[in-house]
Amino acid sequence: MIQRLIRRVLGLAVETPQRVRRAKHGLARDALTPGALKVCEVLRDAGYSAYVVGGAVRDLLLGFVPKDFDVATDARPEEVKPLFRRAMVIGRRFRLVHVMLGGETVEVSTFRAADLETTQKDEHGRVLRDNVFGSQEDDARRRDFSVNALYYDPATEEVIDYHGGLADLKKRVMRVIGDPEERYREDPVRMLRAVRLGAKLGLTLDATTRAPIRRLAPLLERVPPARLFDEMLKLLLSGHASACLRQLREVGLHKGVLPMLDVILDQPLGERFVTLALGQTDARVLADRPVSPAFLFAALLWHEVLAAWKSHRAQGEPSALALEAAMDEVLDTQCEKLAITRKLTATMREVWAMQPRFEMRSGQRPWRLIEAERFRMGYDFLALRAASGEVSADLEVWWRTFQSADDETRKEMLLPDTGPKKRRRRRKKSPGASASPSTD
Ligand code: ATP
Ligand code: MG
Repeated sequence: MIQRLIRRVLGLAVETPQRVRRAKHGLARDALTPGALKVCEVLRDAGYSAYVVGGAVRDLLLGFVPKDFDVATDARPEEVKPLFRRAMVIGRRFRLVHVMLGGETVEVSTFRAADLETTQKDEHGRVLRDNVFGSQEDDARRRDFSVNALYYDPATEEVIDYHGGLADLKKRVMRVIGDPEERYREDPVRMLRAVRLGAKLGLTLDATTRAPIRRLAPLLERVPPARLFDEMLKLLLSGHASACLRQLREVGLHKGVLPMLDVILDQPLGERFVTLALGQTDARVLADRPVSPAFLFAALLWHEVLAAWKSHRAQGEPSALALEAAMDEVLDTQCEKLAITRKLTATMREVWAMQPRFEMRSGQRPWRLIEAERFRMGYDFLALRAASGEVSADLEVWWRTFQSADDETRKEMLLPDTGPKKRRRRRKKSPGASASPSTD
């Protein structure tokens, strides 16, 4: 193998894998899904090698149910595809094959190398291109953590371990393969993955894996915003967002991912609000209930909006305009770094803009508000604000009661109208116009 030879010549280590039998690791092939088993079997029958690899092996060995199954093989994508009835080649940079079997999709990737000569890096060491096929050994070396570089062979029920991943799993540590600084420079997202996977799996970061993170945190600024957003979403929806955030602060990464989050977390009310929001999200994810990323991002940035809103009002802007300006400002800053999608920001705005309307509990306004499309989300947001002590608990109780009360009770609940007189004198507008709040 040429790669092996080059490494020998360069005096680099050539890894010999450990082949560990089932009696030692305990993972039986029937723990795999039928799809993953079938894919490996078909590839093997066609004369290729095929292993389940990455997150699935790691999760199974730890006793978790894997999200999905990845298979690594020495067959090229164009050789894999014809072996299956429903399969397609995806990806331009890295070509992978998605094999559909039953309701399952198994991702099949060809062993890849981080080629020492052809890999393109930017001036900070970030890898821009590395799509060379390689051996299994190369494939193991380009993976991020030792626990992610385990290959399971369903035919023999052996685990093939190049980097001591099994021992690390036993010790419950995450360890970067190779030199941590170099690996983080190649791909700074690995620092976030370390935190997310550590929190999700209950593994601690090995000292050498953890040490360079604080210093290298600014490298995250180089990561394309869309990629950062994807990774943040994974982190926030992992079911372990609270633990992740705590860990992000501990290792010094929180400034890198959500600018100004450190400021928010330093305010007692802000910290309480964010902690409650994340705790609630985690509980929902773990109970398999749906969560809204828009709600979560709206919560993470709310205290930022509050601060900006306040400063605009202090400059004499009317309240509603000041809020608009504050939302623009916060979203502009965030979107530069995180490519938060338009659909998401539209919902975040709706939820934020609804908040002052909860203060208005007289006349027709409460009736109009509960008809709003995002009322439920807006109300949940209000409940979080109340729980964090930002608004009175009475306000939340009022809205909770109002929602489920009959019309008679609702009428009795209304507060005396203290709104600006001019509003009542205004001529009736089209129904859509009533949606924009006047909060002066
Ligand atoms: P999960 O799916 O639970 O989030 P995972 O480890 O399976 O975790 P994936 O993003 O599905 O994460 O990646 C699959 C595998 O690809 C990983 O286990 C790892 O071996 C490798 N990998 C993923 N991202 C990187 C990266 N940035 N650098 C090196 N290897 C990576
Ligand atoms: Mg995975």
